[in-house]
Amino acid sequence: MDKAELMTLAIQLRKDLGEDSSSPIDIFAIAKGIEGLSIVYYPMGDNLSGMCVKGSDNNCVIGINSGMSLGRQRFSLAHEFYHKYYDKTMVSLCGKKIGSGKGKEKEADLFASFFLMPNDELIKKTHACSVKNPRGNLTLSDIIRIEQFFLVSHKATVIRLAENRLITQSEADQYLQMSVRTLAESMGYDGDLYRALPPEKQYRTYGSYVETADRLLKLNLISEGKYESLLLDAFRPDLVYGETDGGDLID
Ligand SMILES: [Zn+2]
Repeated sequence: MDKAELMTLAIQLRKDLGEDSSSPIDIFAIAKGIEGLSIVYYPMGDNLSGMCVKGSDNNCVIGINSGMSLGRQRFSLAHEFYHKYYDKTMVSLCGKKIGSGKGKEKEADLFASFFLMPNDELIKKTHACSVKNPRGNLTLSDIIRIEQFFLVSHKATVIRLAENRLITQSEADQYLQMSVRTLAESMGYDGDLYRALPPEKQYRTYGSYVETADRLLKLNLISEGKYESLLLDAFRPDLVYGETDGGDLID
């Protein structure tokens, strides 16, 4: 598939999932509402960013390497959407380095980029930033504004800006070497985009798996003990033992 086709697919999927074709989106929340989809957050070490395992009847498990930054996890999830919806492969294991894969991996990276940063909006945003600069170029602060707007990792943003020729390749090479969290925080942004979650929060399962376990229990098809063990296997002790950090607020 070429870039134009991937761009069209990305916009179409946004619409199919009830989103518009331009705004920043909360991909974590969207994923939790997709029928038959379970999402497992797990620290997968140094080689994988995520995986997608398809089963029968539209069932699918997407694994996300939760040891990576939050911005990168959002990109990984969009990448796995490509495998879920447009790749016939039943099991996909995805490498860590954005843009370095070939074939389907490269397509999935481009799809993820178009899905999270729709082209028209990216160009509009970029123009709004660069027009304020005397040389009409994008500064590092502008790039931070753009990645914080779309909530995508620094690396994914820089690669996309270079891909669109909105910055030069040598600027991209330079920006890719920079750690930007401190600068982003000094600009008033939250640094979470550039951080992984604390280790105790890196293990979680959401979506269909949890809902199915609950349904089986309510239908008396599994015992309370089996339900609890299924949830504990899925890193959801909070659902078995209750939250330890206070109750709900209805406000
Ligand atoms: Zn992949």
